[in-house]
Amino acid sequence: MTGASKRRKLSGEFALIERYFAPLAKDAKGAVGLKDDAATLSIPKGQELVVTADTLIEGVHFFKSDSADLVARKALRVNLSDLAAKGARPAGYLLAISLSPWVDEKWVARFAKGLAADQRIFAIPLLGGDTTAAPDRLSLTITALGYVPSGKILRRGSARIGDDVFVTGTIGDGGAGLAALKGGSKNLPEKAKAYLISRYRLPEPRLFFGQKLIGIAHASLDISDGLIADLGHIADASAVRISIDAGKIPLSAGLREIWGGSTKAILRAASSGDDYEIAFTAPASARAKIRALAKSSGLKATPIGRVERGQGVVVHDANGRILPFSSGGYRHF
Ligand code: ADP
Ligand code: MG
Repeated sequence: MTGASKRRKLSGEFALIERYFAPLAKDAKGAVGLKDDAATLSIPKGQELVVTADTLIEGVHFFKSDSADLVARKALRVNLSDLAAKGARPAGYLLAISLSPWVDEKWVARFAKGLAADQRIFAIPLLGGDTTAAPDRLSLTITALGYVPSGKILRRGSARIGDDVFVTGTIGDGGAGLAALKGGSKNLPEKAKAYLISRYRLPEPRLFFGQKLIGIAHASLDISDGLIADLGHIADASAVRISIDAGKIPLSAGLREIWGGSTKAILRAASSGDDYEIAFTAPASARAKIRALAKSSGLKATPIGRVERGQGVVVHDANGRILPFSSGGYRHF
């Protein structure tokens, strides 16, 4: 026995499923305790099923040293954020996980505990998945399922000329949290740093707000790769130009404390990833409704710009001067 003996060996695939994953499926009747090949899910009348998946890879989206419960919760939440942006109510999720050689039973137990915590918060069960071994890095894919009133899903492609453009919450916190974790900036104020890191590790899917946007918003999407880049998707899909007033982009106190409030800081915030906020467009006639909705959801929805004729995204200052930016956000390729 070598170093490997130090680690509690993983039980077999089926024992893992039974011990750690089946308890997470107990509230899903159609999942029959994860003891069948597949699960069923009934769709309420007048609703459509909304499906979305996101993958997290060790070394890219999280690290071996990260707490397994936080990895689990982030994996789930980034998916719920996609549902939120579509106006969907979450119904459950599937988990496909490829365990790398360093993963021990303690890690899996902690991972499942994280899922259990979020399942309670968001009232959703695990419906099924797949468990495999990976020769190299750990990877996990969560597929989230949700419901939306038939035909009412909020799309990227339905922005209209003259719409206001809004974002929820604050922008750049996740990116600043990641930068702080990487140790890029030493001697940061502790409180601000802790806030930004928690924003990076544990995004808050805007589910309640997203569902209420149905019938109000025209276009909507989840901001995960950077505000500017993601607004570019709305611009492309809707064949419009999106014009953003840099000074209106909402920055948190924590982010300002570390990055300041310069134009450079704003553009950095607007092109860094991991926000998991919702960007949406809505007609000017909906302003009061949106304000009230934000208030009742306990979050901010800030008007940051306008939908215009044209294409792409432009960011301008208070004098209308167009600000140059190098890259709008994160790209895998
Ligand atoms: P298959 O042999 O077709 O891949 P499995 O034997 O892997 O099926 O899966 C058995 C059951 O356990 C299925 O219901 C599957 O959905 C479930 N399952 C397997 N792995 C997971 C997981 N990581 N999370 C949730 N359910 C899982
Ligand atoms: Mg399988």
